[in-house]
Amino acid sequence: MIQPFYASSAINRHGDYRNNEKLLKNIIFEKNTKFIPFYKGKNLFREINQHIKPVIFNNNQIHEFFPNGIRNTIFLGVANTLNYIGVDLSSPNQKFDLWLEENNIIINDLRKYGPILDDIEASFLALSNGMFYWHSTHKFCGLCGFQNFPKEGGFVMKCSNEKCGKSHFPRTDPAIITLISFQDKVLLGRSPRFPDSMYSTLAGFVEPGESLEQALEREVFEEVGIKVKNIKYFNSQPWPFPASLMLGFFAEAQNEQMTIDYNEIEDAHWFSINELKSLEHPSISGGFKLPRVDSIARRLVDTWINSFN
Ligand SMILES: [Zn+2]
Repeated sequence: MIQPFYASSAINRHGDYRNNEKLLKNIIFEKNTKFIPFYKGKNLFREINQHIKPVIFNNNQIHEFFPNGIRNTIFLGVANTLNYIGVDLSSPNQKFDLWLEENNIIINDLRKYGPILDDIEASFLALSNGMFYWHSTHKFCGLCGFQNFPKEGGFVMKCSNEKCGKSHFPRTDPAIITLISFQDKVLLGRSPRFPDSMYSTLAGFVEPGESLEQALEREVFEEVGIKVKNIKYFNSQPWPFPASLMLGFFAEAQNEQMTIDYNEIEDAHWFSINELKSLEHPSISGGFKLPRVDSIARRLVDTWINSFN
C-alpha cells in the first residue's frame, strides 16, 4: 500500500488516553513529552545546518515561556515513546515573541515545507493544524449558541449550556479526486486558484446524500462534460488545509470530447505519457507543471505513468 503524506503509520493517537484526564494532565509535565506550537494559524520552523525543521519544544522550554501553565492544548498521540501535544501559542507573550525574533524563527504554512519534513513530524503538524482550525470554528455551540469547551484531549468540543450539552466532534470534508483516462491519454485541468502553469486531476467535494462514485461522476461531468466508467478506488490523502480528506480514484472516459465549464475550471487537455514526462504540451506555451509531490493528485499521475513501464 502507498503511504500517504501527513498520515504516518508510526503514530499512535491513543484514543484510549483521551478520557483519562489525570493521565493527560500528567503527560503535560513528563520529560518525554514534546510540544508542537501552533502560532496565529501557522507553524514555526527553523533552519538547522541548511535543513528546515519544525520547532518542537520540550517540557522545560514550554514551561519557561509559560510559567503560569499552558492552555489550548490538544493531545495528538505517541510516536517512538514520545508523547506529542499541540499547543496554541498565539496569545500575546512578550518573552515568547522576543524568542521568535532572536532565533530567526520562520512562521509559515506547513504546505510550504511539508514534503521535506520528517514523516512523523509532518503528520503531527498536520493533525495539530486541522484540530486547531476546527477549534477556531467551533468556539460556540451550533445548536444553542453557548460557548463550547474542549474535552477528551481536545477531540470533543462540548457545549457549556447544561440544558444542551451537545458534544461536537472534529469534522473532515470528503472530496473525490480522479485521474480520467481515455486510451493512452489522461485528462488534467487547471483552476484559476492553482499556481502558475500547474495542471492537475479533477476534484470536488462530496455532497450530503451522495456516494463517492456519484460525486465523481457529477464533478467530472460538471467540469468537462465527460461521462465516466470503470471507477476504481486508488488511495486516500488527509489534507487538513484546513479540513479535507481526498479520496483518489482512477476512471475511464466514455469518449474524449470535452465541454469545459469555464466557471469551474480555466483549462483542460488530454496528456500523453510523453507529454507528462517532458512537461510539454502542444496547446500550452512554455510547458506546464504537475502537482506537488505530497499531493494525491501527483501520486495518481505517477502511478498511471508507472503502470506503462
Ligand atoms: Zn449547545
